Amino acid sequence: MKNRSLLMIPGPIEFDSAVLAAMGAPTTGHLAPNFVEAFGQALERTRTLFQCKEGQPFVLAGTGTLGMDTSCANLIEHGDAALVINTGYFGDRIGAILERYGAAVTHIRPAAGQHPSLAEVEQALKTGHFKVMTITHVDTSTGVLADVKGLAALGQKYGVLVIVDGVCSVAGEDLNMDAWGVDVAFTASQKAVGVPPGLALAVASPKAMAAFKNRKTPVGSYYSDWANWLPVMQAYEARKSAYFGTPAVNLVFALNVSLGQILQEGLEARFARHVRISNAVKAGITALGMGQVPQSDSIAAHTMTAPRFPAGINGADLVPAVSKAGVTLAGGLHPDIKSEYFRIGHMGVVNQNDVLATLGAIESGLAACGYKFEPGVGMSAALKALTGS
Ligand code: PMP
Repeated sequence: MKNRSLLMIPGPIEFDSAVLAAMGAPTTGHLAPNFVEAFGQALERTRTLFQCKEGQPFVLAGTGTLGMDTSCANLIEHGDAALVINTGYFGDRIGAILERYGAAVTHIRPAAGQHPSLAEVEQALKTGHFKVMTITHVDTSTGVLADVKGLAALGQKYGVLVIVDGVCSVAGEDLNMDAWGVDVAFTASQKAVGVPPGLALAVASPKAMAAFKNRKTPVGSYYSDWANWLPVMQAYEARKSAYFGTPAVNLVFALNVSLGQILQEGLEARFARHVRISNAVKAGITALGMGQVPQSDSIAAHTMTAPRFPAGINGADLVPAVSKAGVTLAGGLHPDIKSEYFRIGHMGVVNQNDVLATLGAIESGLAACGYKFEPGVGMSAALKALTGS
């Protein structure tokens, strides 16, 4: 009997075997010609993925939080004002990082599961003299999908630098830095980018790089300082080598494989696949009588789903019961509603069999928790959504 759990949390995710093979290949030196070529290509592909033709890519060893840290460290000087569009736990985190670098931070923080109106954001931008505005594209604690296009347009109108946390979105949700006017976006390898944890990917627009170059004071973090990394990124892209900190060689090889697959699939096709998969998961959850944390479909992410526990079961029992049935899911994260919901990640190489297996395991878990429903109703709704029948 197979004894393997399907990993359906919002990162890390299931990885493609070619990506894992690159992780397991003998490590080369960071100056080896094949590594120089792979890193150079990965940087070019990162720029394409973020849809930012003139942007400066940075691929660093670290997690998504390093992406948050570098963005804030390099753009904030003591006393700058920052506006955080806070749709959950990761809005709080970026607010804390901005404060650490000396920013005066204002949060627009609707209740968990909600998205602020553009009018409310515009009102704040009108009066706040902000240098930066941050947006969490998909806040993984709520599954809320932010209106980056609408918010970034406002940011540009009021002359602020727009920073997007794309950790739970890039390579799964459309994020078009050029078309939407995003100045810095970042993600981490372990989510829709499809590479084991350990890399932070960021792209800075020419406007963001100019703001960085015009700083009056040194960057408050040595490791995060773009001045240290820029010559390295430029060198590898020119197929030369340079050193500041040893690159995560195997992860970079794996990243290049995954980015190749992503671009081969095509960004539009990939985003459409994430929508299809997400619709099927959400149809199954709804058919099983569960609500979701995001207040409406239009603000629900396509990379994950955040179902509320149905009435009449002890929520704490469900995720372990689903795990027993072979699928690993995540519990709640947002402190205000932590015990009321759970989370399903569906990004990267996820396919329709994964969706059906996940709903099957959720049904098994619900049954084990004593929930009354018609067996198969969730899987059937998902299948109908997948096949359009
Ligand atoms: N932002 C978001 C939206 C995230 O989901 C996460 C990780 N779950 C992070 C930032 C931080 O990433 P990491 O855990 O890789 O540091």
